[in-house]
Amino acid sequence: MDEITDINRELMLDANATAGLLYEIFGMDMTAALGECFSCGNQAEMGTLLAFTHGPGVVLRCSMCEHVVIRIVKTPDEIFLDARGAVYVRLKREK
Ligand SMILES: [Zn+2]
Repeated sequence: MDEITDINRELMLDANATAGLLYEIFGMDMTAALGECFSCGNQAEMGTLLAFTHGPGVVLRCSMCEHVVIRIVKTPDEIFLDARGAVYVRLKREK
């Protein structure tokens, strides 16, 4: 592990810390939603993604390969969601 990764690890939060932000975007609890990492194919619950919240936005990284899965930036008027690192996200429907 290189030095930059070590520094980032220190600033890392569990993705559950961003559960409120995801709830604001999707209107539902996203921590148990399944997503597949575009980079390594790891299928994992959103709550297990590594969350980095020290930048201007929130970056959620794969817990296996550490590639960026989702990036979220909030401005006063909009929320930008970049999910290009996810092949898909599966949401449980309300019944
Ligand atoms: Zn991955």
